[in-house]
Amino acid sequence: MPSPQYEVVIGLEVHAELITKSKMFCSCSADFFGAAPNTHVCPVCLAMPGALPVINKEAVAQTIRAGLALNCTIAEDVRFERKNYTYPDLPKGYQITQYELPQAVNGWLDIDTPAGVKRIGITRAHLEEDTGKLVHENGASLVDYNRAGVPLLEIVSEPDMRSIDEVNEYLTRLRQILIYIGASTGDLEKGAMRMEANISLRPAGSEALGVKVEVKNLNSFRAVRNAIAYEIARQEKILRAGGQVEQVTLGWLEAEGRTYVQRSKEDAHDYRYFPEPDLPPLRIERAWVEELAAGLPELPRARRQRFVTQYGLSPKDAEVLTAERPTADYFDALAAAVGEAMPAKKIANWVMGDLFRLVNDSGLPISDIPVTPEKFAGLLKLVAAKTINANTASKVLKTMFKTGEEAQTIVEREGLAQVSDAAALETLVDRLLAEHPDEVSRYRAGKVQLFGWFVGQVMRQTRGKANPGVVQKLLKDKLAG
Ligand SMILES: [Zn+2]
Repeated sequence: MPSPQYEVVIGLEVHAELITKSKMFCSCSADFFGAAPNTHVCPVCLAMPGALPVINKEAVAQTIRAGLALNCTIAEDVRFERKNYTYPDLPKGYQITQYELPQAVNGWLDIDTPAGVKRIGITRAHLEEDTGKLVHENGASLVDYNRAGVPLLEIVSEPDMRSIDEVNEYLTRLRQILIYIGASTGDLEKGAMRMEANISLRPAGSEALGVKVEVKNLNSFRAVRNAIAYEIARQEKILRAGGQVEQVTLGWLEAEGRTYVQRSKEDAHDYRYFPEPDLPPLRIERAWVEELAAGLPELPRARRQRFVTQYGLSPKDAEVLTAERPTADYFDALAAAVGEAMPAKKIANWVMGDLFRLVNDSGLPISDIPVTPEKFAGLLKLVAAKTINANTASKVLKTMFKTGEEAQTIVEREGLAQVSDAAALETLVDRLLAEHPDEVSRYRAGKVQLFGWFVGQVMRQTRGKANPGVVQKLLKDKLAG
């Protein structure tokens, strides 16, 4: 953070690869991760002369969904334009993007700060195509066009962030929303999300914006945080010495932990945008937007709040349980299946403790584990009914995770119910002996064969669930009495 004398002003541009079957303007598969270089290509995405683009409707739908989730106004008239620049990873020599008429504008994203909820403005969210990728190997530069033409969503924020913590919270929430609505995998390690930050300092209390720099190609949240911290320190030093920050485009050297100048203001790019002549302007039907809005899931923030109000969970537990949509879905289904049998707080502890451990160890997504919410509810009901204790339940859950069986099945087969039921069995034995004084007298008088009859009575009354060992020991003790 800068000294209190200065305030940092940060805006972010986030590029997120959209989840679609095919690329933005051709039928090549957009799921190229791990594929051999240049195997997901065709004349369109390789920019062969005469090849014409066709708009991917699903990519437009994903952009609208993202725009809606970010409280944007969805434009009815959208236009694709050519952004002209030359780089080896861009086979056409231009990128097709939305410039003057973007798909979504004027939205916001609420983040939590120590001072309360803060609203970060979303300037615009628009659709464009990704570039290919340069690979530098053994002194040579190779190009892989598998990524060229993959639909890319660009989300531009207002310069509303004032600290690295706010930036981190914004990125975390934005990523969470995109994953929740199924628009992007948000997989930073696979490059599905890339960031750029605009950073400037100004004297504290000043309304005027200082000179900003733009740091490009930030591929992790950590890189964003480090680059901003570096820039704050660098710019503050310049300002303190009475100097002027230069308006430049910077790159980030992760290994060295510093920014470097990519382009100065003097040679700032003129992209010569103009409407893409090979694509018609888009007219978005209102009804379609409404249909997409209706199909959106409950968003993370709303779900978090509902978990607090509906289940009485702490904000921290609600955060953990709603961090990922499949987990939140699992908890909702589990809580519904358990019903009133157990307080939600206890259910949450079971999920965040034993279940999370098993899920993590298994490496399975929670939606695919053998213990469905209904089966888990069966186990928790046995705990609530004191049929088994918590220790036993932990063991049963492990078995359920391996076999996919019902809790009841395992408890019966392995005779687990009675272990914690010794006290109940004792009551039962006491009553049995009290109700049959004759048999007790005859047994004590030497008719030991009656012992089997007593055991049989207890087993019948517990419908076979009693542990014969425990029953025999109890009976022996009491009859000897
Ligand atoms: Zn293609």
